[in-house]
Order: sequence, then C-alpha cells, then structure tokens
Amino acid sequence: MEERVLAVHHWTDRLFSFTTTRDSGFRFRNGEFTMTGIKVDGKPLLRAYSVASPNYEETLEFYSIKVPNGPLTSRLQHLKEGDTVIVGRKATGTLVIDNLREGKNLYLLATGTGVAPFLSIIRDPETYDRFEKIVLVHGCRQIAELAYGESMVKALHDHEFLADEVKAKLFYYPTVTREPFIHEGRISKLIDDGQLFADIGLPPLDKSRDRVMLCGSTQMMVDLKSRLVERGFEEGNHGEAGDFVLEKAFAER
Ligand SMILES: Cc1cc2nc3c(=O)[nH]c(=O)nc-3n(C[C@H](O)[C@H](O)[C@H](O)COP(=O)(O)OP(=O)(O)OC[C@H]3O[C@@H](n4cnc5c(N)ncnc54)[C@H](O)[C@@H]3O)c2cc1C
Repeated sequence: MEERVLAVHHWTDRLFSFTTTRDSGFRFRNGEFTMTGIKVDGKPLLRAYSVASPNYEETLEFYSIKVPNGPLTSRLQHLKEGDTVIVGRKATGTLVIDNLREGKNLYLLATGTGVAPFLSIIRDPETYDRFEKIVLVHGCRQIAELAYGESMVKALHDHEFLADEVKAKLFYYPTVTREPFIHEGRISKLIDDGQLFADIGLPPLDKSRDRVMLCGSTQMMVDLKSRLVERGFEEGNHGEAGDFVLEKAFAER
C-alpha cells in the first residue's frame, strides 16, 4: 500500500520518526511489525518496521534509525511531508499481549529503536485491563536517544481516555550507559543488582506474577533471556502463550 507522509521528526542525528496516512483496510495488533520502505529505481526497498502507533489511530507512526550507508535508511532519513512510503499489507510479530499468560505485572524491556512496539502496547487500553502494573524500561547509550519514548510517555499522561490508567499503572524507566543520568547501566545489570526493582518499588522478577517482553539487539536479548530462563520463565509465541516473548529490534549482518 502506498501511504503519504504527514510529518517527520528528527530526534537526534541517528534517530527520526514519521507519521503516515493509513489505509482503512490495514489491520494490526499492537506490538506487531510490517514491511515498510520506499521505491528505489522503481522497485520497492522494504525493511521490517514496528508500528509505534496504536491500532485505533487513523494514522501510522514509525520510529527509525539512520544507518550510515544503510540501503533503506540512508534514503528514508530524507523523507519529507507529502512523500510516498510503502507499508506492507500484512502485520505480524510475537510481541503481542495475547502471547502472554495471565499475570500481574508486565515488563517491557527495550534498547534503542526496540522501544517502538512497546509505544504501541502502552497505548492499548487492553494492556491496562490485563495488567496491574506496566513497567517500560528503555536503555540507550545517550540521554538524547531517549527523547522519542519519553515524549510519547509524557503525552500519555494527558491522553483523553488513558491518562488515569497510565498515571496509576505505568512506570517509565529510562536508563543510559554512556553518560551520567538518573538511571545508569544496562538493563541486565539493573536486574542483577536489584536497582530497577528498588527504584520502582516492585519485587524482583518472579514467574508466578510477572510477564516480560524483550525487544533489542541480539546481545541484549541473549543477556535478558538467560536471566528469565534461570528464573523458570517459559517463552511464548503464536499459538502458545508463555511468561515472556521476544523479538529482535533489528537483524545484525
Ligand atoms: C522484526 C524487526 C522489526 C524492526 N523494527 C524496526 C523499527 O521499528 N525501527 C527501525 O529503525 N528498525 C527496525 N528494524 C530494522 C530494520 O528492518 C532495518 O534494518 C533498518 O531500517 C535499517 O535498514 P537499512 O536498509 O538502512 O540497513 P540494513 O542493511 O537493514 O542494516 C544495516 C545494519 O545496521 C544495523 N541496524 C539496522 N537497524 C538497526 C536499528 N533499528 N538499530 C540499531 N542498528 C540497526 C545492523 O547492524 C544492520 O546489520 C526491525 C527489524 C526487525 C527484524
């Protein structure tokens, strides 16, 4: 489907987001991704992109890296209002709350652009119906790289329908690894030393109560998955709900 770009925002020299029109026939579940891109020499050049906007909105929003010399993003970063982008007709992915067993607390653990699917999930009313607390942890190298996620969370506090639920249930926990900040260090370290749980006032991860979604680099997922498996958490996927689900934020080459 061809969609029109309605807005573009550059958050840092490496990160931007863009909003597009949405075909009324395009359906997705919050947390899913679709193949998105542009035509190059008349042929579609597409990559997997998480939909960052929730599925009840009339427009679509995506959050993108700018990879120097990246076949798609070296071009996509020059998008302007009025340009055309291609959005795949089918959305898919494992990061959907239906793939999780019943639980009390939902942990959404992301690094980098891996926060995108979670920005859709934290704007889904069903997330607040199903869980008592929702903890969004976003790890980046630098503070500036948190800006998109932070602004989305801030906006939710004034959301027409969700503001009260968000104030009562959502914890936003940004952390950086390369600068002094209110929270510092990798997510794995914050789990190991208990700092995350001390800061938010919840008990350490427990399979009987907690459900987890992971989205980040391969290394981040190896590190965090091993900590969950050690605690007896079982991985879920389509058809079989589990205690945690994961998806790569990008494929390394
Ligand atoms: C399931 C899934 C969902 C994805 N969702 C998003 C998304 O919402 N936003 C997004 O920006 N990208 C996302 N990606 C990555 C995306 O598909 C492309 O890789 C990215 O747009 C770069 O495309 P490219 O052609 O410029 O470079 P590519 O040739 O695709 O990538 C070149 C290299 O850049 C690095 N890289 C690629 N993407 C990223 C990234 N997001 N963060 C850090 N390093 C990266 C990797 O080392 C990769 O090998 C997703 C990937 C998968 C598998």
